[in-house]
Amino acid sequence: MTTTYRIALIPGDGIGTEVLPPACAVLDAVGARHGLQFSYDEFDWSCQRYLAEGAMMPADGLEQIRHHDSILLGAVGWPGVPDHVSLWGLLIPIRRDFRQYINLRPIKVLDGVPSPLRPEILKDGVDFVVVRENVEGEYSEIGGRLNRGFPEEMAVQEAVFTRAGVTRVLDYAFDLAGQRRGVLTSATKSNGIVHTMPFWDQLVAERSAHHPGVRWDQEHIDALAAKVVLDPARFDVIVGSNLFGDILSDLAAAIAGSIGTAPAANLNPEREFPSMFEPVHGSAPDIAGQGVANPLGAIWCASMMLDHLGHPEAGAEVLQAAFGVLAETSVRTRDLGGTATTAEFTREVLSRVGAHS
Ligand code: ATP
Ligand code: MG
Repeated sequence: MTTTYRIALIPGDGIGTEVLPPACAVLDAVGARHGLQFSYDEFDWSCQRYLAEGAMMPADGLEQIRHHDSILLGAVGWPGVPDHVSLWGLLIPIRRDFRQYINLRPIKVLDGVPSPLRPEILKDGVDFVVVRENVEGEYSEIGGRLNRGFPEEMAVQEAVFTRAGVTRVLDYAFDLAGQRRGVLTSATKSNGIVHTMPFWDQLVAERSAHHPGVRWDQEHIDALAAKVVLDPARFDVIVGSNLFGDILSDLAAAIAGSIGTAPAANLNPEREFPSMFEPVHGSAPDIAGQGVANPLGAIWCASMMLDHLGHPEAGAEVLQAAFGVLAETSVRTRDLGGTATTAEFTREVLSRVGAHS
């Protein structure tokens, strides 16, 4: 029996349009082995569209993709178009409307990928996940500016933490830790942020009672940032607010090596709405159109999508194939010191799909 999934593809700008076809090719190859079929609907929502028509997506854009099973996004952003246009004109409406309240960033130092960290720091391996709260917290629109241009000019921005919003993220993170090595670290700053962060800490302690199998602790974000660099092997799952999770996930991706390899998932765990999978990298205008972008971030996204759709064995097969290319061959893209094109790397991954099972 074949299960069919409808996938909304938003290639976006620059190399976003070059890394999604490899991800789809890998999905098709792995799907064929697992009775899964993917039908793709492509949407041209991008900064190019914004420049031509004044909006990143049509007014009924969210309606057009609401009933798809998942969204794969390449990258949005282009020189001359301010970042807030792609953020507030596309990414944030999708995250909020589809209640993608979890942002998931797996961090692994891969065999064959150089990390900026010293070998002695890496000897125990680096394999953890950052769970970021994705829809509330510090990135609220509540606030304003007064007295522009005067000496008493001021800006105020409120952070919003709700019991329901924090609880669901913490429960997700505790559950994930329970499925992994059973260790959760919460990012806090309750010594300096004296209202919202103590509330966060209180909820962590409360929720921990419901997840007795998980060992947990909390670290102030400043100390935690240092430990992620100096002793990354200690971490299994790190959970943080929207701002802290944002910063930690980029820091963590940097220790893992190239930005071209890092994936992210914006999840609606209840599956009431589609979740969105996007590589961490941007549109990379400096290499766009050359066919040399590293497609691994996007391919890893395809694996996360398979996990989310309930096919973890297929997801694992994708990663085994892709990581195998880096560990066992010299085929790699320029960002990893190689000479392979996007298509050559993808072909190598495809040749390994299912090869070890
Ligand atoms: P954004 O503002 O959208 O985050 P950015 O300009 O800050 O984008 P990227 O577009 O990710 O960042 O590019 C940063 C650097 O990393 C560039 O030099 C780019 O060429 C390189 N890079 C990013 N993604 C890849 C990739 N998949 N393969 C190879 N190089 C990449
Ligand atoms: Mg940028």
